[in-house]
Amino acid sequence: MDSARNKELEDLDRLLIWHPFTQMKDYMGEVPLIVEKGEGSCLVDIYGKKYLDGVSSLWVNLHGHRKKEIDDAIRNQLDRVAHSTLLGISNVPAIELARELVEIAPAGLSKVFYSDNGSTAVEIALKIAFQFWRQKGNEGERHTFLSFINAYHGDTIGSVSLGGIDLLHEIYGSLLFPIHRAPYPYCYRCPLERSAPACGMECLNRVEEILSTHHQQIAAVVIEPMIQGAAGMITSPEGYLKRIRELTKKYGVLLIADEVATGFGRTGKMFACNHESVSPDLLCLAKGITGGYLPMAATLTTEEIFNSFLGEYKEKKTFFHGHSYTGNPLACAAAVANLRMMKEEKVLEKVQGKIHFISEALKKYEKLEHVGDIRQLGMMVGIELVVDSANKEG
Ligand code: PMP
Repeated sequence: MDSARNKELEDLDRLLIWHPFTQMKDYMGEVPLIVEKGEGSCLVDIYGKKYLDGVSSLWVNLHGHRKKEIDDAIRNQLDRVAHSTLLGISNVPAIELARELVEIAPAGLSKVFYSDNGSTAVEIALKIAFQFWRQKGNEGERHTFLSFINAYHGDTIGSVSLGGIDLLHEIYGSLLFPIHRAPYPYCYRCPLERSAPACGMECLNRVEEILSTHHQQIAAVVIEPMIQGAAGMITSPEGYLKRIRELTKKYGVLLIADEVATGFGRTGKMFACNHESVSPDLLCLAKGITGGYLPMAATLTTEEIFNSFLGEYKEKKTFFHGHSYTGNPLACAAAVANLRMMKEEKVLEKVQGKIHFISEALKKYEKLEHVGDIRQLGMMVGIELVVDSANKEG
């Protein structure tokens, strides 16, 4: 072990790197944890100490670190080309991945628009929805969105506009575009003080009120289907997502499902929308798409929406959006290998036993004094801690 090198790395890290979502004043006073390598479900730091990667490197890693199939896919692609633009031309892994994604996506989603991360996947969905309505002749209308209290959709200005977590989003208020916001069914702390299932999901009335009054201005409802992740793993009651889909159809508003966190088996099904057989108009994917290897995202949509963008160049219907690394071949090759492995290793079938194991193991925490609520959807679990479980004080 080279202690001089390790000390230098620690000093340089504190001196040079501004870490995300991190109070740097605290960070600079601590010895940083610096990852040297990964082994299966574990990360190993520069001193050789092993850590269980319990957050899956921020909900991205699916099969563990240094999975041979994905390593090989990236190496093989490196022997061909590392990157070429997708603006106006294509590449082999981007095509292969699109075929895989359309095959597994909820019915009706047949077009794939690539980007680099969850925030851009959402940003793209917003812009596509907005432009779709304009091209349908709704000039000046359909300029806003409906999202949910405590929502988290990423860190770019569009996705922050949808966000509903004050700690993260309030400071940017004057930069953001106005949206309609509905309560998400946070049953443990129901804003309507009802209890499920007896309430019959009364909170849906508020969604319907907004849609019935403002549907002419709303381009889309944007939702984290089945479970709000960053908000604290808030699971929605059975049937809620399906009802949201019905309401968007009733009022002629698009549905954007942000499956950045929930996609690729994290909830026990390929997509959270599959739990209630819902097909959104736009589906945002990132995180697990490459098995946790490379930055990569995709926004999927329908023929109808795609077709509204077709026309003569001078009609200005082109979707003028694209990043330098959109459709990066290395990332697409990793994603193809990831999806093949999910199929070949029957990951979705095998994960059911693990989900059951976790839910059994969680039971022993239910009665603890400071455990208010335990919520689980597949491999996503939240334990809400309280001062006292009787009064639910946070
Ligand atoms: N949407 C959801 C539901 C998320 O959980 C996240 C990230 N946690 C994002 C969007 C943003 O993804 P990214 O961090 O890749 O930009």
